[in-house]
Amino acid sequence: MKALVKTARGPGNLQVLDVSEPVCGEDELKIEVAYCGVCGTDIHILKDEFPTHPPVIIGHEFSGTVVEIGSKVTKFRVGDRVVAENVCSTCGDCYLCRTGHYAICIQRGAQGLDLDGAFARYIVCKEQNVYSIPSEVSLQEAALAEPLVCATHAVIDQTKVRAGDVVLVTGPGAMGLLAAQAAMAEGGLVILTGTTADRERFEVARKLGIPHTVNVEREDLPRIVGDLTEGRGVDVVIECSGSERAVTSGVSLIKKRGTFTQVGLFGKKVPVDLDTIVTREIRIVGSMSHTWNAWKRGLSLVAQGKIRLAPLITAVYPLTEWERAFKEFEDRKGIKILLEPVREG
Ligand SMILES: [Zn+2]
Ligand SMILES: [Zn+2]
Repeated sequence: MKALVKTARGPGNLQVLDVSEPVCGEDELKIEVAYCGVCGTDIHILKDEFPTHPPVIIGHEFSGTVVEIGSKVTKFRVGDRVVAENVCSTCGDCYLCRTGHYAICIQRGAQGLDLDGAFARYIVCKEQNVYSIPSEVSLQEAALAEPLVCATHAVIDQTKVRAGDVVLVTGPGAMGLLAAQAAMAEGGLVILTGTTADRERFEVARKLGIPHTVNVEREDLPRIVGDLTEGRGVDVVIECSGSERAVTSGVSLIKKRGTFTQVGLFGKKVPVDLDTIVTREIRIVGSMSHTWNAWKRGLSLVAQGKIRLAPLITAVYPLTEWERAFKEFEDRKGIKILLEPVREG
């Protein structure tokens, strides 16, 4: 089968290669990939700003259909439409595994980074990591399940947004649009920020009913936040852009004792005004992956129509056109670009 492979560490070293199909173990499912989304992490992998274990097939945001099940699999059948957690090898015994945070297990192995991922025709996943796609959700939409649950983890598990919170979401890419919808589902009043380059993303945000969209290059964000919070500052910032400027502005706009959650990755070190964190008693939280809770709640919110995924899908290309897709993602053209595997034979 054709697969997009990181062949060695270092910038570049990504290539579509012919590789053998994965073999399904006794507690595993073999899944024919329907779609796999391009994610910021894939761009960091291209530039070698994110650790990987090459040679490895990359891609971790996928949906598909079960084509084979192992002898010990009980919950799924051939033909089921599924998504899966990309964190697939954990120790099961460390303090993280034992407290439900297996996705950041000390010995974690993730598909698309350390183990073969989903920019390929087939992927093999452990039964315990697989979830059925709700009948209301299409295979294209379901390819956004993994970023969706990163957003529900950030908003629900890590930040614990509460009804009535004013929530500043910085960065209107896929993660920002998902986090904004999750915060709204929790009862938050969302302000979503971006720049002039995000015009298309703001249009999608308005279609999704996000009440306040602010172009920070043209509008006075501090004044808008002041008006909406009677001068207190926002309860919560969810930083999804990975931009230094958004961090500086976000930290300055939180109320005293508010929460700042960092979701975007920077690929470098960035300065933070820690004196402000101290004097305003701000809580800083990181959010990278997900939990079983985030998967269950995320998929349920989509099935209920409280989070909409289809408006975020702006292009679908064949896997062989990955370079075009990565370039458009980097140029901030569109929102979520899906790749469709080559189905030869
Ligand atoms: Zn991702
Ligand atoms: Zn562990």
